[in-house]
Amino acid sequence: MSDYNWCHGTNCHTKETQSRVRGTGNNKVLRTIKIKHNSNYRSHERYQMFNYFCGQNCLFDFIRTHLASMIAIAPRREALETPIKVEKEKYERTRYEYDSYSDRPQRVPYMATRTTIKSVDND
Ligand SMILES: [Zn+2]
Repeated sequence: MSDYNWCHGTNCHTKETQSRVRGTGNNKVLRTIKIKHNSNYRSHERYQMFNYFCGQNCLFDFIRTHLASMIAIAPRREALETPIKVEKEKYERTRYEYDSYSDRPQRVPYMATRTTIKSVDND
């Protein structure tokens, strides 16, 4: 197994950057970016896509080109749901208001509502 991938971006080889220029004299080309494996950044699960794409532009070029095929792999035919609890709690906040007694704004307490979404164990 090789220790690199070529960027899978459909237009990677057309982007005019110095890092893509290869060749000599009058035989120069823009070449697809080569991506080496094993950087800590790329080994993190969250960023493994960047083992295959040199950046977000190339990733999105690929998605735009192959969207229909990607959706066909795992079509979503119905909505998914996650059970939750919604908790509402009252808490005191303050706002500043001008009154007729002072030039300065006065702190005025009021009750606000905080809504929190809590996950639920659904075993
Ligand atoms: Zn690329």
